Amino acid sequence: MVTNEELAEWIEERQGRFVAVANEIWEKPQLGLGETEACKIHTAELTKEGFRITPNIGGMPTAFMAEWGSGSPIIGFLGEYDALPGLSQKNQATQDPLVDGGPGHGCGHNLLGTAAMAAAMSVKAWLEQSGRTGTVRYYGCPAEETLIGKVYMAREGVFDDLDAAITWHPSDFNNGVKGSCNAMDNIKFRFHGKTAHAGGNPEQGRSALDAVELMNTGVNYMREHSIQEARIHYVITNGGGAPNVVPAEAEVWYYVRAPKRSQVNELTARVRKIAQGAALMTETTLEEDMQGGCFDVLPNYALADLAHAIMEELGPIEYTDEEQAYAKTVISGFAPGTCELNLRARGMPESMLDTPLHGEIVPIYDAGHVSGGSTDVGDVSYITPTLQVHTVCHPTAIPGHSWGITATSGMSIGHKGMLLASKAMALTGAALYLDQSLIDQAQAELKERTSGRPYETPLEPGLKPPVPKEVLAMAK
Ligand SMILES: [Zn+2]
Repeated sequence: MVTNEELAEWIEERQGRFVAVANEIWEKPQLGLGETEACKIHTAELTKEGFRITPNIGGMPTAFMAEWGSGSPIIGFLGEYDALPGLSQKNQATQDPLVDGGPGHGCGHNLLGTAAMAAAMSVKAWLEQSGRTGTVRYYGCPAEETLIGKVYMAREGVFDDLDAAITWHPSDFNNGVKGSCNAMDNIKFRFHGKTAHAGGNPEQGRSALDAVELMNTGVNYMREHSIQEARIHYVITNGGGAPNVVPAEAEVWYYVRAPKRSQVNELTARVRKIAQGAALMTETTLEEDMQGGCFDVLPNYALADLAHAIMEELGPIEYTDEEQAYAKTVISGFAPGTCELNLRARGMPESMLDTPLHGEIVPIYDAGHVSGGSTDVGDVSYITPTLQVHTVCHPTAIPGHSWGITATSGMSIGHKGMLLASKAMALTGAALYLDQSLIDQAQAELKERTSGRPYETPLEPGLKPPVPKEVLAMAK
C-alpha cells in the first residue's frame, strides 16, 4: 500500500467496521466526561490495530491517547465522542425522541471520533507497509461540547511534541476550513447572603439574589463599552426558593466570548470587578467557580489548502434519491425560514436550499470569519498547526445542535460524510509524512500567527475537570 488511492481504499474496504463503530456510539449517547462506552469502543479498536494506549489523561477517565510507530514526524488525529442533552432522536427523518429528554448525537460526534480513528488506523497501516518512520497518534478527546477535554489535555502537555494535528467536523458542506471560533471563559458566580423572613424581618436579610441581579445589570451596562464582537450571556442557576424567604444563596452562570483570548481575558477581568461590586453593594460574599475556558481557533491556511485540494481529488459524495428525500423531510421539520436565515448569516444564497444535500466540494468560504460559538480545538491550534475539514453529514443549513443532526448522524448520510472525512484526513496526514516542507510551511504560519508566543492554559492553577463521581469510581 503506497499510493493515495490505496490509502483511501484501505478505509473504503473497512467501511462496514467503521460504520458499525459510529452506529454503536450513536446508539449509546453519553454526555461529556461520561463517554465511557465510546472511549471503550475506540480503545478496543485501536488496541486491535497495535496502538499503544495512554489512558486517563488529565484526570479524565474518558480521555486517552493511542500511539503507533516511532520517531518523527508525529501527526495526531483528534477525535470527539460526546453527545448533547435533550437531543435524543429516533433513526427517522421526522422529530421524535427515542428517549424523552435523553441525550443524542446532535453534533455528530459519533461520526467525528470514528472518522479520526479510521484515519489514524489507515495511516498506521500505510506507514507499516511502506516501511516509513514516523509516529501516528489518535487522541480520544472527551467533553468538547463543554469545552473541557482538549483544554485539560493541553495542560498536561500531550500535544506539545506534535508536528501537526488533524481533525474535522460534520457539516453541510465539503471543504477545508479557514474560519475561526470565539475564545471563551465559563464561570459560575455564587453569592452568599443572609436569610430572613421577607415579610417579617427583611431588614435582617442580605439577599444573594439582589447581588446576582445587580451583577447582571452591571454587566449589561458594560456591554456599551465592550468591543462589538464580544458575546456575554448568562443564566441564573439559583435564584432562591420562595418570595417570602430572603435568598441566602444565589448563583449566576456566565459565558464570556470574544474573537481573541486576550480580549476574553480583559472582558472577564471587568465582569469579575462587577461581581465584586455587586457583593459590596449587597453586603454579601462572592465565590467564583471557574468551569473552564478555551482559546479561539487559529486556522492554518497551508494545511486547509492542502486538504481542500485532496478533497477535490477524492471527488464529491454521491447521494441516492432516497437520501435527498430524507434530507428534505428533515429540513421541513424546522420552522419555515430557519434554514434560509442560517444561509443568509453565512452570506450564502437561499437557492442553496434547492438541493437538500450538497455532495460537491464547495470552495473554502470562511477565511477571516469568526463563528460565534467556541471549541476546545482552539487550544490545540495554538500549540501545533491544526487542520480542520468539513464534510456533509446533515442537510443544508439546518440548525446546529438539533434533532435533525442526530437523525442524519445515525444513517447513511452521516456515514458517507464520515468516510470522506476519514479519507481526506488520512491522505493529508500521509502527505505530511512524505514531504517535510509541508510541515515546515504549516509551522511557519503558526509561528507568524502567534508571533512565537507559547501557549498558556486559560485554566486557573489547580482547577480540576468536573468528572462525574460515578465515572471516577469506574476508572478506579
Ligand atoms: Zn461539534
